[in-house]
Amino acid sequence: MQETATDYIIVGHGIAGSLLGYFLEREGASCLYIDSPQQIGSTQVAAGIINPITGRRFVKSWRVDSLLPTAQELYRQLEKELGISFYHQRALIRTLFNRGDENNWQARMLDDAYAQYFQAEVQLGQIEHCTKPAFSYLEVAHTAQVSIGKLCDSLKRMHKAEGTLIETAFDHDQLEMGPEGVQYGQYQANRIVFCEGWRSRFNPWFNHLPFGGNKGEVLLIRLPEAKLERMFKHRIFIVPFEDDLYWVGSTSDNNFTDDSPTANGRTYLYDRLTEVLDTPFEVVKHRAAVRPTVKDRRPYLGTHPLHSQLVLFNGLGTKGASLAPFWAKHLSDHLTHGTALDAEVDISRFVE
Ligand SMILES: Cc1cc2nc3c(=O)[nH]c(=O)nc-3n(C[C@H](O)[C@H](O)[C@H](O)COP(=O)(O)OP(=O)(O)OC[C@H]3O[C@@H](n4cnc5c(N)ncnc54)[C@H](O)[C@@H]3O)c2cc1C
Repeated sequence: MQETATDYIIVGHGIAGSLLGYFLEREGASCLYIDSPQQIGSTQVAAGIINPITGRRFVKSWRVDSLLPTAQELYRQLEKELGISFYHQRALIRTLFNRGDENNWQARMLDDAYAQYFQAEVQLGQIEHCTKPAFSYLEVAHTAQVSIGKLCDSLKRMHKAEGTLIETAFDHDQLEMGPEGVQYGQYQANRIVFCEGWRSRFNPWFNHLPFGGNKGEVLLIRLPEAKLERMFKHRIFIVPFEDDLYWVGSTSDNNFTDDSPTANGRTYLYDRLTEVLDTPFEVVKHRAAVRPTVKDRRPYLGTHPLHSQLVLFNGLGTKGASLAPFWAKHLSDHLTHGTALDAEVDISRFVE
């Protein structure tokens, strides 16, 4: 068997592994990707909504002011390089259910730090014609929908054609540690980076970290009599998606036993849809995956405390589309130029 040397082995080709590899390769490093086609990654099921303001209290997402410009610039750049379209700037309309919601929103509108994230005038567009009337609405600005699954599929095809993607399950028991790197079968690498999503909880070198995992189910539907161009949130999201379908989601389950779609999940989403839609719909697909959530809701970046050739990139939680570009670049800079990791994301925060 011929030995193959590479700078990095990257385990996992979701949005974390894909973007980290992109930045490392841009710095001239070579990467070998290992990804299991038998597993459903979170990236494949996500809508990729970028939404700077969340929750009933309309709170600004962590570091969103710096994350969003980085994400937009990278995604637009990748659209050009790959010749595909996957980054869609779409307005997000949210239902306000009562006077309390309206008061919370209006209080935020008066805060200068929030001003750029709300539109003064709400444009409902086609939403008005295919949903039941609600108490009131607001429109969030600087929102987008990023088809991160489509992006990763495109990068995977490229890596497969280049011979740098191995589609198989990575077996942790087969990894050998050397003084200057790692050996995995015929592959020798200076470093290995684990971007395994929620399955990192099974990684023997990093399972000391407080990983979570949150299962989400979604429906892909057709709306034969409507053409929505905006994203709409009325308890659940209804989002214009690829192939003339709408993404509807999602459920949230911290106590999951597997990552398969369930009858309960489907019923829940179907019932929410019938509550809000005033137009016929047809369910085309039902999917599920586990979000890589973590204890303190901050990404996990860094090296193993004893083996610096073992690296982790994880914890993108519910916001991979907005977090991945910034933190993939941050980790790539750390690995290639030795820049310090931000203390809020460095996994050394868990070492006592
Ligand atoms: C229902 C749902 C809706 C979501 N909606 C949004 C949204 O609107 N906006 C947003 O920003 N985020 C959303 N997310 C979250 C988003 O999907 C994640 O933050 C992001 O995709 C995580 O990317 P990742 O690369 O870390 O993990 P993943 O995408 O899970 O990728 C991990 C990869 O590692 C591979 N892998 C793991 N173990 C092994 C092994 N031993 N061998 C080989 N391969 C392995 C897996 O096969 C997988 O391909 C949603 C998630 C879900 C489930």
